[in-house]
Amino acid sequence: MIQFTHRNEGFKCENCGYTVPPAQQTCRNHCTQCLFSLHVDVFPGDRKCGCQSLMKPVQVFIEKGSASALLHKCTKCGHEQKNKIADDDNRESIMQVYEFNSTHNIHKK
Ligand SMILES: [Zn+2]
Ligand SMILES: [Zn+2]
Repeated sequence: MIQFTHRNEGFKCENCGYTVPPAQQTCRNHCTQCLFSLHVDVFPGDRKCGCQSLMKPVQVFIEKGSASALLHKCTKCGHEQKNKIADDDNRESIMQVYEFNSTHNIHKK
């Protein structure tokens, strides 16, 4: 069993197959192209979760007029995790998540 205490290497996205390069400043936890993540953490970075399922970006948080974070929801267990958007994340994909959200109004009362 290989132990990773600090994970900041690149990885291959299980959703779109894109090879994601390591992040410059932060720990990479989602694909820069399709924004999908993997449910591998109990606490951010510990990789202790056995779920290992794809986490879909379901919401974009806007701060001071720009996208600052994503909400990922696990496609298997429904766990939700907020993640910071990296500088090199695909802006079009972020906008797609944002627009999908506003058109479907999932938080409408
Ligand atoms: Zn991807
Ligand atoms: Zn899960």
